[in-house]
Amino acid sequence: MALHYGLFIDGTSVDALDGATLDVLNPHNGTVLATVAEAGEADVDRAVVAATRAFPAWSSLAASERGRRLLRLADAIEAHGEELAQLETLDTGHPVHDTTLLDVPRTAATFRYFGGMADKFEGNLPPVDAGFLNYVLREPIGVVGQIVPWNFPLMFCGWKLGPALAAGNTVVMKPSELVPLSTLRLCELFDDVGIPRGVVNVVPGYGARAGAHLVAHPDVDKVSFTGSTRTGRSVVEASTGNLKRLQLELGGKGANIVFDDADLSAAVNGSAFAIFHNQGQACIAGSRLLVHQSIYDEFVERFVALASSIRLGDPMSSDTEMGPLTSAQHRDRVLEYVALAVEEGGEVLAGGAPPKNPDLAAGYYVEPTVVRANPTSRVCHEEVFGPFVTVTSFRDEAEALEIANATDYGLGAGLWTRDLARAHRVAGALRSGMVWINCYKRVHPASPFGGVRRSGYGREMGFDAMREYTEAKSVWLNVDATIPPWYSRAN
Ligand code: NAD
Repeated sequence: MALHYGLFIDGTSVDALDGATLDVLNPHNGTVLATVAEAGEADVDRAVVAATRAFPAWSSLAASERGRRLLRLADAIEAHGEELAQLETLDTGHPVHDTTLLDVPRTAATFRYFGGMADKFEGNLPPVDAGFLNYVLREPIGVVGQIVPWNFPLMFCGWKLGPALAAGNTVVMKPSELVPLSTLRLCELFDDVGIPRGVVNVVPGYGARAGAHLVAHPDVDKVSFTGSTRTGRSVVEASTGNLKRLQLELGGKGANIVFDDADLSAAVNGSAFAIFHNQGQACIAGSRLLVHQSIYDEFVERFVALASSIRLGDPMSSDTEMGPLTSAQHRDRVLEYVALAVEEGGEVLAGGAPPKNPDLAAGYYVEPTVVRANPTSRVCHEEVFGPFVTVTSFRDEAEALEIANATDYGLGAGLWTRDLARAHRVAGALRSGMVWINCYKRVHPASPFGGVRRSGYGREMGFDAMREYTEAKSVWLNVDATIPPWYSRAN
């Protein structure tokens, strides 16, 4: 029987005011997994009212106390880990092996990190002119709107709610209409861990309606948006009414460079993880493989063999390595890119189609796909966001960098080499918010995450995230009564 979830507003599960609902599908077989209340403008309004009302008490709670409640939330996530992992798998298609060993522990770890951070993040005392004391307070911004995509919904709760709540803000979050279940289930844990009503409100709904209304809302002080560059642009335009603060985590087209002195086994395995983990639905996926010409044939042969051996299957099965894409529409989009690659003169070296296994025919599966492509072709520039990687050879370091940086994006990039000097040189020259050397897609709550250029601005994680969710207030005190103001009169 399908599950039912309401909107989560002011600590309560409620229906949409107009009674609208949306169906959430299981991407493994296309059946309805749940019906969920679909937020309209009036629902977003009442969520903002609840967050505004909750702000004074939450923001004035001792930072250590806010932290303690986030630590308890981390414990509660672990205690409900199996259930959350399964729900995430059913909803997103992400294999249960990964949701159990990565998504759930990482979500708990992120809340734990920011729980610990709450009372360690300090203001400062700038050394100003003699006779004055200047101190800088870091104050919460207010009501924060958070809009998230469908690729890692549970983990993004940690990334976004963790720092926002630690800093004392209250939140209205709009999860993706495709995968809202784990976020709504998480809300059911708040009461027990002491996160008061109204501090977090969740309004699943469509971007053009609930999302756009949240972005334009005059009582929302900041929006943290994760999604495509195209939507990010409309978020910027819609946010101008009250000039709210923005943080944009957008798309990527990560270059992954394999030099001729790389440990080939590590590079083959790491590059497969870089693109095929989570079916390639990752903004930081290594979706452009650049391989030195002297090792190109051997590398590609081994990489294609590995890609072709990845076990596709029901994501609820513990030995499945790749599940379905999250929606039928997205599966079709990925397949259109395969057709485009061929049209542009590329050669499909592996995959390129839905799997032949009849057990998977009703799901949104695409085989791990490797395409030899010319670096000027569209498939080497546009984000596919699926199990689709282009592979291109290069002559030398200069050409590798030229190809790697010939993109409008700048989120993640990687390189494989044993040459220490080259590793640092290339890392410095890549136009990218994150660089991985002899690894790929490493993330940690302590390390800043974000991009440059059309991959957006602002950073998640670490101290940077706390800065994103606070305003600096500079306070001046004249401590030397003998210093006259310039208009001083003898009176
Ligand atoms: P999307 O831009 O279509 O949607 C993202 C979210 O925005 C969804 O919740 C959607 O409902 C909402 N939305 C859509 N239109 C809106 C509007 N006009 N106003 C406000 N909200 C609106 O992206 P997607 O297809 O869900 O996700 C894939 C994209 O997300 C990829 O481009 C990927 O690279 C990017 N992404 C980036 C990061 C990062 O940290 N940089 C992480 C994950 C995903």
